[in-house]
Amino acid sequence: MDLRLAGRTYVVTGASSGVGLTTVALLLEEGANVAACARDGTRLADAVERLPGSERVTTFACDVLDAASVREFVAHAGERFGGIDGVVNNAGRSLLARWDETTDEQWRAELDLKLFGVLNPVRAAVPWLSRSDSAAVVNVNAILARQPETRLAATSAARAALLNLSATLSEELAAGGIRVNSVCLGLVDTGQWRRRYESSDTADSFQQWSAHLAADRGISLGRLGDAEEVAYPIVSLLSPRASYITGATVDVGGGVARYM
Ligand code: NDP
Repeated sequence: MDLRLAGRTYVVTGASSGVGLTTVALLLEEGANVAACARDGTRLADAVERLPGSERVTTFACDVLDAASVREFVAHAGERFGGIDGVVNNAGRSLLARWDETTDEQWRAELDLKLFGVLNPVRAAVPWLSRSDSAAVVNVNAILARQPETRLAATSAARAALLNLSATLSEELAAGGIRVNSVCLGLVDTGQWRRRYESSDTADSFQQWSAHLAADRGISLGRLGDAEEVAYPIVSLLSPRASYITGATVDVGGGVARYM
């Protein structure tokens, strides 16, 4: 099926690894142009230049928390490709700490990242998106937003705030023809889980270690997801073929979500 993304332009934040980088690869495969950002511009450029279709990517070193830098990045994207059709707000991380181990600064930093990591790019992109005939925003979120984990207390609370903000944005931006949806992740095998495996003192292989992790977290499919399994729903929601979907939340968690 043709997703009708060829020739369109998408902004992807946090694009140098994991879900962001795989989303860039899939958009390129579909013939789209991509403007990609991450804080470490060298790592980003190195990662992206190996992708087929990399001549249709522009990279920019930018922290999504720096509003001025995000404005510059988005303006650069719009000018380079003559418009913007969508934004994937993917940049982020999680904080492994229970509520009583989390400092005030960490609570604030988590909320800051989850809210302004989306508000800054959306504010900058709305004037461009308003000119598209099929504009879409996808916020990469986590199942934690609705199913908090005590070991990720601040991240869970901040994810819930982002899910709530996404609902507001979908309602506010609909009149301007901009759809806003969320993709909520369970446990996805990216750099962050590889780093946790490497810093553990286990004698297990990554496969054994991640199978135990999946069992411990009650993932029905018995394994972590991979980045492509997340990138596909993200790209589908950007597609003009998803033109009647807004305010929706798609869980990509292999059955880890227990809510109805
Ligand atoms: P990775 O750690 O593999 O990649 C994160 C990317 O975001 C990197 O490109 C990083 O580059 C960039 N980034 C981080 N902070 C910023 C910032 N302030 N400004 C700009 N770029 C930034 O993450 P994943 O692919 O695993 O995760 C993608 C998203 O999904 C994240 O928001 C994550 O929290 C969320 N998620 C992931 C889960 C998982 O199991 N993998 C589970 C639930 C949610 P650089 O450091 O150079 O800036």
